[in-house]
Amino acid sequence: MLSVADAERLIVDAVHPLTDTEGVRLPDATGRILATAVRSQLDFPHWDNSAMDGYAVRFDDVAAASGQSPVCLDVIENIAAGTPPQKTVKSGQTARIFTGAMLPSGADTIVMQENTRRDGDRIEILQPPKALGEFVRHRGRFYQAGTPLLNPGIRLQAAEIAVLAAAQCNVVKVIRKPRVAILSTGSELVAPDQPLKPGQIVDSNQYALAAFLHQFGIEALRLGIVADTPPSLRQTIKEALQWADVVISTGGVSVGDYDYIEGILEELGGDIQVRSVAIKPGKPLTMASFAKLRSLYFGLPGNPVSALVTAWRFVQPALLKLSGLSQGWQPQFVEATTALDLPAAPSRETYIWGQVAIRDGHFHFNCAGGSFSSGNLVNLAQTNACAVIPVGSSGIAAGERLSVLLLQS
Ligand code: AMP
Ligand code: MG
Repeated sequence: MLSVADAERLIVDAVHPLTDTEGVRLPDATGRILATAVRSQLDFPHWDNSAMDGYAVRFDDVAAASGQSPVCLDVIENIAAGTPPQKTVKSGQTARIFTGAMLPSGADTIVMQENTRRDGDRIEILQPPKALGEFVRHRGRFYQAGTPLLNPGIRLQAAEIAVLAAAQCNVVKVIRKPRVAILSTGSELVAPDQPLKPGQIVDSNQYALAAFLHQFGIEALRLGIVADTPPSLRQTIKEALQWADVVISTGGVSVGDYDYIEGILEELGGDIQVRSVAIKPGKPLTMASFAKLRSLYFGLPGNPVSALVTAWRFVQPALLKLSGLSQGWQPQFVEATTALDLPAAPSRETYIWGQVAIRDGHFHFNCAGGSFSSGNLVNLAQTNACAVIPVGSSGIAAGERLSVLLLQS
C-alpha cells in the first residue's frame, strides 16, 4: 500500500500536459489555458495621457504657484478623452484635459482641477505640482511593445481577458480541453431517473464526477452504468481509453468477488502504478497509465465519499496539470484550528470533511455533523475542506492546529 505522498507523486509524474492548441474567440476564452505568449505591438499606455481631470501645463510655468500668488494661464483648448490635441501648449498657456486624454505637445505635467480656479478663458493655478510629470501616465510605463504581455500556461479569468481585449487579441490560442470519460461500475446501480427496486443503489458517483469536472470547464463524456461483467467492462473501458485523455470509473477496485477493474486494465496493457493507498476514506484506488494511447485511468472506490475525496486529492491535480496550467495545479492546503476533537485511523492518512472559515485572520475548521462513513454522502454536502490527520496519529484535539485541504467550490 502506497503512502498518500507516494501515490500523488506517481500520479502527477504520469501526467504529460496537453500541448494541442486551438483558436477561440475572445468571449469564449474565459477559463481556458493560454497556449502561447501574447504580445502587443502597442505600448501601454499607448501615448502620454492624463491621470486626472485638470489642466495640462508646463511645469516650469507653475512650479512657484501658490494660493497667495496664483499663476495665471490662457486656456487654449479642451481635450476630451478620445480626441487628439490640436495645439501646442506654449509658455503661459494651458489646455483643459480629462482623464485618459492625450497630453498635448509642449505640456509635461497635469494640475488637478481641484487646485485651480477658472476665470473665463483663463485659469489660476493655486498649488504647484509636486514634481515634473505629475499625473501624466507616460507611454509604455505599464508595458513595452513586443515583450510578453501574458505568458503561456495561465488560466484566463477576468483580468487576463481584459488585458487581451486591450491588446485587441480577438482570437486567443488556448490549449485544447482535456477529454475525460466517466463511468460507474456496479450491477446494483440504477440511474437517478429510473425506478428503484429493493436492494438497488442509485448511481450518484457519475453525477458527482460530472459536476466535479464541470468546475474545471470539462464536459465529461458520460458512459453510464456498466454491470460487473468482465466483457462489458472490458469493451467500455477499451473504447473509452482510445478516445479519452483520462478515464475515470468508480467501484470495482476493491477485493470483492465482483471487482474486475484492475485485472481488465492489466489485460488491456495498462501500467498499473497505484493499487491501493493508505488514505481514509479511499484505500482501494487504482491508477494506470497507457503510454501508447497517451491516456490515464483512474479507478476510484465505489463508496460515494471515497470517490469524491480521492477525486479531490488525486484526480484534481492530475487534471489541472494535464490541462496545461504551468503553476497552481497542486492541491491547496492551509493550516487551521479544529473546533472539535478529530479521531483518526493511525494506519492511514485520514481525511475528515467539514467547513473551513476565516475568523480574525485565521482559518478555523469545523467537521461536518452527522456520522462519518465513506458511504454517507449526506453530510458531505456543503463542506468545503478536509482536515488531514497524518499517519501515526490517532486524532487531533480540539483547539489544535492541523493541515486542511481546500476543496474546489
Ligand atoms: P464497490 O467498490 O464497487 O464494492 O462499491 C462500494 C460501495 O459503493 C457499494 O456499496 C456500492 O454499491 C457503492 N457504489 C458503487 N458505485 C456507486 C455509484 N456509482 N454511486 C453510488 N454508490 C456506489
Ligand atoms: Mg461494485
